[in-house]
Amino acid sequence: MVELVARGVDMFDCVLPTRVARNGTAYTYRGALSLKGGAFKRDWGPIEEGCDCFACQRFTRAYLRHLLNVNEILGLRMLSVHNSHVFLRVMTESRAHLQAGTFGEFRREFVAQYLPTRRVLAARAAAGSAPA
Ligand SMILES: [Zn+2]
Repeated sequence: MVELVARGVDMFDCVLPTRVARNGTAYTYRGALSLKGGAFKRDWGPIEEGCDCFACQRFTRAYLRHLLNVNEILGLRMLSVHNSHVFLRVMTESRAHLQAGTFGEFRREFVAQYLPTRRVLAARAAAGSAPA
């Protein structure tokens, strides 16, 4: 989204935050996480440190992983809450940086810390584009 804002897009309408939540994926400022994986079995932290969404304030990655793996709907809903919150936060910050004239710096920092998924990297390689 930050890259699209840099290219002039100023309106987004997408089901992605909730669609990927149904697959157990959470977006963070450092990239996407698949919370169903065993790596989160004993991870007592929030989905994303510093996130002030309802889900991150109340649930751990380990508990959400459990909910997702037993198909408890609360897990999907909490990931949807978090993902929607992240998207809104990115857009709010983008807007604020545009108004302050600091969007370029925000964009560089955001892109530098965001790790693309293997699928994105494969698509870039197939298209012949260089990694960001
Ligand atoms: Zn959150």
